[in-house]
Amino acid sequence: MDCLFCKIISGDIPSSKVYEDDKILAFNDINPVAPYHILVIPKKHYDSIADVPEKDMEIVAHIHSVINKIAIDKGFSDAGYRIITNCREDGGQEVKHLHYHILAGKKLPNYEAEQK
Ligand code: 5GP
Ligand code: ZN
Repeated sequence: MDCLFCKIISGDIPSSKVYEDDKILAFNDINPVAPYHILVIPKKHYDSIADVPEKDMEIVAHIHSVINKIAIDKGFSDAGYRIITNCREDGGQEVKHLHYHILAGKKLPNYEAEQK
């Protein structure tokens, strides 16, 4: 499949890995917008969060569990962080492989103000 993140999973495209297990991979975003900008993706391809069937939803819980662990490991859990998944066109999703952004390491801009 012609998918950028599937190529990162297979190793065809290199990435700066933060965490890996048999189901998910986390790596540093190539264009960080915060001191920490980590992407967390399932190894199984889903186009977006809207494309995860009910029977596979446990992967989402696993992703969130790993995000909590990464936050503790990297030392930004107490200060806080933001998790984002952009979905489809109006959500601004550019890479069509489900991914969660973790942003941390600074006081992030007010989210609601940005949307107006
Ligand atoms: P989206 O806009 O789809 O939610 O986010 C896609 C993210 O993937 C962007 O933050 C972008 O910087 C990141 N990205 C795009 N291509 C690459 C790449 O080749 N390597 C890495 N590490 N990140 C990428
Ligand atoms: Zn993919």
